[in-house]
Amino acid sequence: MADAVVIGAGFGGLALAIRLQSAGHQVTLVEARDRPGGRAYVYQQDGFTFDAGPTVITDPSCLEELFALSGRKLSDYVELLPITPFYRLLWDDGASFDYVNDQAELDRQIASMNPDDVDGYRRFLDYSTAVFEEGYLKLGHVPFMTVGSMMRAAPQLVGLQAWRSVYSMVSTFVKDEHLRQALSFHTLLVGGNPFSASSIYALIHALERKWGVWFPRGGTGALVDGMARLFSDLGGVLRTSSPAEQILVENNRAVGVRLAGGEVLRADLVASNGDVVHTYDRLLGESGRGKKAAAGLKKRRFSMSLFVVYFGLKAPAPADMKHHTILFGPEYKALVDSICGAKPLREDFSLYLHAPSVTDPSLAPEGCSGYYVLSPVPNLTQDIDWAVEGPKYADRILEALERRAIPGLRDNLVTMRTFTPADFKTELGAHLGSAFSLEPILTQSAYFRVHNRDDVLGNVYFVGAGTHPGAGVPGVVGSAKATASVIAEDFPAVAPAEAA
Ligand SMILES: Cc1cc2nc3c(=O)[nH]c(=O)nc-3n(C[C@H](O)[C@H](O)[C@H](O)COP(=O)(O)OP(=O)(O)OC[C@H]3O[C@@H](n4cnc5c(N)ncnc54)[C@H](O)[C@@H]3O)c2cc1C
Repeated sequence: MADAVVIGAGFGGLALAIRLQSAGHQVTLVEARDRPGGRAYVYQQDGFTFDAGPTVITDPSCLEELFALSGRKLSDYVELLPITPFYRLLWDDGASFDYVNDQAELDRQIASMNPDDVDGYRRFLDYSTAVFEEGYLKLGHVPFMTVGSMMRAAPQLVGLQAWRSVYSMVSTFVKDEHLRQALSFHTLLVGGNPFSASSIYALIHALERKWGVWFPRGGTGALVDGMARLFSDLGGVLRTSSPAEQILVENNRAVGVRLAGGEVLRADLVASNGDVVHTYDRLLGESGRGKKAAAGLKKRRFSMSLFVVYFGLKAPAPADMKHHTILFGPEYKALVDSICGAKPLREDFSLYLHAPSVTDPSLAPEGCSGYYVLSPVPNLTQDIDWAVEGPKYADRILEALERRAIPGLRDNLVTMRTFTPADFKTELGAHLGSAFSLEPILTQSAYFRVHNRDDVLGNVYFVGAGTHPGAGVPGVVGSAKATASVIAEDFPAVAPAEAA
């Protein structure tokens, strides 16, 4: 049995802590903020419950697996509610598409856009399924620690044309521009530009079709709380409001973690779920390895950021409001390219609107409705003063929403807060205020992402969006599985029953 310290209680840190504790190690999970969740933080404000980040919960099986490790059941800790349609997509020209899991209904909607695309969609789904089986089921939780591991995956990547972008691949199957956007926008959910992210990310479509889209009763925060409760039930120790300041290193091995205030937690192994640049630069900054690795990482491409407005209305949601709505802007490619290229803020935007009280009315006071709307924006490479621009940008977004989705929005507004790229940096330590860590492009994926175990410091591990396979809840939960498998090789655990 090893004493482990996991730094950061995002989904990745929680999943790793659960895996290690289930394997018989003794884990202390330290979190800088006052509650676990990371990007899945929760704001309680004026009677509304606002999930800060992830709202589209896919692949429940990766979560169920965490509970099953100790013979427990996810459903004993949190209830997942199915969401349909998965998303409603709205375009500036008035077109709309309800992305559902019912093939006949999908065919009907696709045919109304372009009859030829019905067959093209089927072929796209076959392609997406093939990528899903290879890229997610086989490789999504496998650590890529060596060049050899990458070489072994190369033939499959070549076969699936992984060098092409998602959008270009989708375009070989369907002709209608709305459908091309509908089938490729998913990369934005993990920080990738559909026009440059590897077509491997087309797997998200098949993943959603296979397992559906879910939302926890009580909000994503209830899922975080369920995972934290499981960890505690297993005997793990979660310490919130406990920022780690330094990973202590002796002879190229971590020996513990120093917290703000000076307390030292001795450990046999240390894993970080914090931002990868923050971890190398700050937490390992006193070791030569930390500074060198941080300098290398800073030269790489970091994903876009997000501007999020959380707001509550003293009126119910419009009758036809769906849980998830995407509102595409008029010049989609130019907009996405500018955001991902960290160009100046544009006048137009594409928006994702989250309306959780449509599914779970307990998230807003009676007769009210709660929302968040997010707009992908350039990361802090672009010098925007968010203290000045933020309020103006929020006004423009709310005005657009009032026009396109929620009549009377501003008259009914009773509460509101925002989260800007600057907040991603200060609140979460995100390098360049990136919302999704390293951008998911082929040259920053798998072996080319931050390794699950550091190459020099033999007992320092990484988990979360900066590691393989990348951002998104299934991604970081998969990264925990990859990291736990490396730790299992380094620290063969005593089965909990034996230890007792
Ligand atoms: C607004 C938004 C919406 C999203 N929507 C979705 C969605 O619908 N579906 C989906 O699958 N994904 C979504 N994502 C992506 C997903 O939320 C993230 O990729 C994922 O949650 C990141 O998890 P993580 O494990 O990398 O850790 P993070 O969530 O980044 O958490 C890391 C934790 O480490 C802590 N930490 C950092 N440094 C220290 C330190 N020195 N000491 C102690 N603690 C520290 C931080 O406080 C934080 O709690 C969304 C992201 C955002 C921002």
